Amino acid sequence: MRRTGLCGLFLSAVVFTGLVQAADLTVRVDAREIARKHVHTDMTLAVQPGALTLVFPKWIPGEHEPSGPLDSIIGLVIRANGATLAWRRDPLDMYAITTTVPAGAARLDIAMDTGLATEGGGVFSTGPTSSEQTAVLPWNEFVMLPKGRDADTIATEATVLAPAQWQLNCALALHPQADGSVRLEGATLARLIDSPLQMGRYARRIELMGSPPLPELKHAISMVADTPGALSVPDDFAAGYSRLVAQAGALFGTRMYRHYTWLLTLSDHVAHFGLEHHESSDDRTKEDSLLDASSREGVAELLAHEYVHSWNGKYRRPAGLLSPDYQTPMDGSLLWVYEGLTQYWGTVLPVRAGLVPPESFRERLASVAGTYDIQTGGRWRPLADTAVQAQILYNAPAAWESSRRGVDFYEASEFLWLNVDSELRTRSAGQTSLDDFMKRFYAGPGGEPAVKPYAEGDVYTTLASVTPGDWQALIRRHLDSTSPRALLAGLESAGWQLSYLPQKNSYIETRQKRRKTIERDWSIGFSTDDKDTIIDTIEDRAAARAGAGPGMKVVAVNGHSYSADVLDVAILEAQKTHKPIELLVESGDYYRTLPVAYFDGPRYPHLTRIEGRPDLLADALRARSN
Ligand SMILES: [Zn+2]
Repeated sequence: MRRTGLCGLFLSAVVFTGLVQAADLTVRVDAREIARKHVHTDMTLAVQPGALTLVFPKWIPGEHEPSGPLDSIIGLVIRANGATLAWRRDPLDMYAITTTVPAGAARLDIAMDTGLATEGGGVFSTGPTSSEQTAVLPWNEFVMLPKGRDADTIATEATVLAPAQWQLNCALALHPQADGSVRLEGATLARLIDSPLQMGRYARRIELMGSPPLPELKHAISMVADTPGALSVPDDFAAGYSRLVAQAGALFGTRMYRHYTWLLTLSDHVAHFGLEHHESSDDRTKEDSLLDASSREGVAELLAHEYVHSWNGKYRRPAGLLSPDYQTPMDGSLLWVYEGLTQYWGTVLPVRAGLVPPESFRERLASVAGTYDIQTGGRWRPLADTAVQAQILYNAPAAWESSRRGVDFYEASEFLWLNVDSELRTRSAGQTSLDDFMKRFYAGPGGEPAVKPYAEGDVYTTLASVTPGDWQALIRRHLDSTSPRALLAGLESAGWQLSYLPQKNSYIETRQKRRKTIERDWSIGFSTDDKDTIIDTIEDRAAARAGAGPGMKVVAVNGHSYSADVLDVAILEAQKTHKPIELLVESGDYYRTLPVAYFDGPRYPHLTRIEGRPDLLADALRARSN
């Protein structure tokens, strides 16, 4: 794990021990009041007399940041032998509290009350995890463990009390009890935290068809929603995701899980994101996400991304991202593999499975290429640094993102991996591709979840074993460059180039509709949100040069009330007249008119073919047979 010298301990495969004699930790979560965001937890922890430091999970796997929601604790009482114990927080480590276990005590009884996040809160673990009708229980929010203990050595038994009539789903087997609670299959604390519990009044489980290499393995999509109507899916839904399972099997050749369940929450009142686990994923999106074709493409990319993580991220994990006690800081340097390669396959596999058409893939990739092409942040900060600073960038504001850079190790890495794929094909005269790397790097015994850490050099060594070459030089060129050329070279190696055309990009159009934004970054150089406030400006483009900046509200364009249509008419007019566009902005309590000297007309990113070069992208997107 991480930057201390402990990694040697974890450089061989560590299989979760799983088998548990007597639980070291029992956790009983009472979630019957979850609609009012209140959860009560009773824990018992096996201890020995003397000083004891307990910690609350801080570094959450998959979140790559110290996001354990410490402020969710709204009550904590620790008892031993029937008496309440005093405790004290470590003034230099907010996540640690110290107490003294009295002589003769073999266990602590810990009662914890949790106030869950309400709407408008943060993202990931700090965002809302429940609505009136649905909830996901991330176990890291309802446990404490002894400081320094590897969670994979703590035998745990968990039970849950859910609201009446709610259905429960979890990667761990569920056993209903006589008192109305549900007991989970015994597991280590690491496995428990890796197995969030999904609950909901309106639920639907879609079983998928088995596929090679292990057709008997069960795959399912378990959905809960705020309304029953949101659970409708087209007739071919199960067949499409069964093909995704088959394409992942063809890609990786092995499955490092006993079964796999997508825990899909459809609600406008929970935080929207996906969080990967070995045998499940916690996927949360808008309530109406399954009801139209373009939104379903977005869901397919979300579910495929989290599914790929079962191999890339959970089974094979950068040694620096391990944190066995959830306190050791994570080193995000290799997130261009963990997230970047997942982003690549999470968008390629849905095309191979027929869940997303290749045209949609290209329009999305064009929008990504266009974003990084004009981004001024890429001129001072190399891609590699966005991975290193992930823990800050995840929560950075959208204002100034183009100048600062965001978590670019996701999407900008797509071009890196596309370049590697194209180079493998070219250097081997079509005999190898990135698929061969995947099979080698992610090869495993299959079955029980396991963690096999890796270092950066392992990536280059495995690539060279597929096809000889200086893979480090090629990849570091993408990672260390401060020019968009490396990124565009990745695209061009696959036979495509970025072109700016007056026609709108269909992917960007859909995104604007869903987010109620107006994105004109590639023409006048800004985007606005649903309140007409400028989200960000592109620093060397016309709007910024005229004085526009993030946070200003656009009121009118050439004297007309601001809207996408009014702005587009003004952009066309300026192209003809060569007169600056007059932008009336509100900044604080003041109004100003900014003359925006932009005369090049509408401009949107698209991919166009490079004549005479083979279309390697088409080959990457083609379905594989098992
Ligand atoms: Zn991810």
